[in-house]
Amino acid sequence: MDQLFLKSVPILEKIEHAGFEAYFVGGSVRDYILGRPINDVDIATSATPLEIKEVFPKTADIGIDHGTVLAITASGTYEITTFRTEGSYSDFRRPDSVQFVRSLREDLQRRDFTINAMAMDKAGNIIDPFNGKRDLSEQRIITVGNPHERFHEDALRMMRALRFVSQLGFDLDYDTFHSLQVNAPIISKIAVERILVEFEKLMDGTNKKRAISLLLESGLYQYLPRLSDKKDHLRKILDLPLRHLKAAELWSLIMVQTNDDEMEAALRAWKLPLKTIRNVQRIVQLVKQEPSFEKSSLEVFQAGNDLTVQAFKVRASLTGADVFDAEESGRHHYDSLTIKTMSDLAVTGTDLVNWRQEKPGPWVKAVLEMIVKAVLDGQVRNDKEEIKRWLVKCNLS
Ligand code: ATP
Ligand code: MG
Repeated sequence: MDQLFLKSVPILEKIEHAGFEAYFVGGSVRDYILGRPINDVDIATSATPLEIKEVFPKTADIGIDHGTVLAITASGTYEITTFRTEGSYSDFRRPDSVQFVRSLREDLQRRDFTINAMAMDKAGNIIDPFNGKRDLSEQRIITVGNPHERFHEDALRMMRALRFVSQLGFDLDYDTFHSLQVNAPIISKIAVERILVEFEKLMDGTNKKRAISLLLESGLYQYLPRLSDKKDHLRKILDLPLRHLKAAELWSLIMVQTNDDEMEAALRAWKLPLKTIRNVQRIVQLVKQEPSFEKSSLEVFQAGNDLTVQAFKVRASLTGADVFDAEESGRHHYDSLTIKTMSDLAVTGTDLVNWRQEKPGPWVKAVLEMIVKAVLDGQVRNDKEEIKRWLVKCNLS
């Protein structure tokens, strides 16, 4: 068993000693069988949240209405969720109610795909009532039960199906795909924030090309923010090497490719964090520098190492160049800058104020920026006296 499971076995034992059932469930069991790295283990139990709170002295009610309690123990914190079924769904999103149940099978049945509907006991036995193991070995994403009903209960599952295609490189079962095609419009009932979580996982996955291609084939793209009229652009993206791009890089690539004048509005429509939006804007700005990065030292300086490397990767993908070489040259390009930060500059704002004998103001920043550019471009050496002379020569002093 994986280290992470072994470490958590005492938690299962503690719950069992109190007279309840407890299992590892969901993504960790799937990843364990696949031999993929496990991020965190989820525990499901027949004990109600109140019963769990009696078993563990220290807990936090992180999602108690949905049955989840966080147990805080010496060996770490664990999300423990009571077996539950979900009531009727009237809005394609959340169940109207959840009911706690004592049966593991019922809990597994409410889960989205067969590969996510397995449990493992403390001895490592797999409980697999819906043939998840078979579907793992046949590399198939298939809903537990009727896909039409399952997508109607929670339309986000359509997005999740495609993100698992991207992460695992599996195929969608035919009926599941067909149902996705038919039900694509109801994805618009789902909050963008929830769609974004799945879309970014899709973007980070190594088989994103297959997933994007299914996004197009199923028509789901039409109901995602700002993508409804981007079919041709997305199709072109499929001709590019995407495998090694991460989410921010793929966002940038899409922005370059779609040449959206309203890039910020497009990214905001996806409810991306402002920091990510700014990063994507910087990457796009760098990628669009023509004809090469050579003339863009100031932009590289402003972007910093990581965004520069990302921009090089995006550029490589667009031109068909090797992505790993691009990473290397991005790093090299940044390293070769004569200065990396403002504090590397041989003069400070105070120097400028003293030389000019003028009150500090916005001019200080403007002049400093000119100096940075001149130093980066090799017009002047990063030396206090030389910079002072250069400023006189340029009438800036
Ligand atoms: P990851 O490794 O990305 O976390 P995961 O399979 O653990 O993948 P989560 O989103 O963390 O995915 O969900 C945990 C488990 O909860 C899933 O494996 C699945 O059994 C169940 N689940 C999550 N979301 C849904 C949903 N919308 N409908 C039904 N079951 C779901
Ligand atoms: Mg998870």
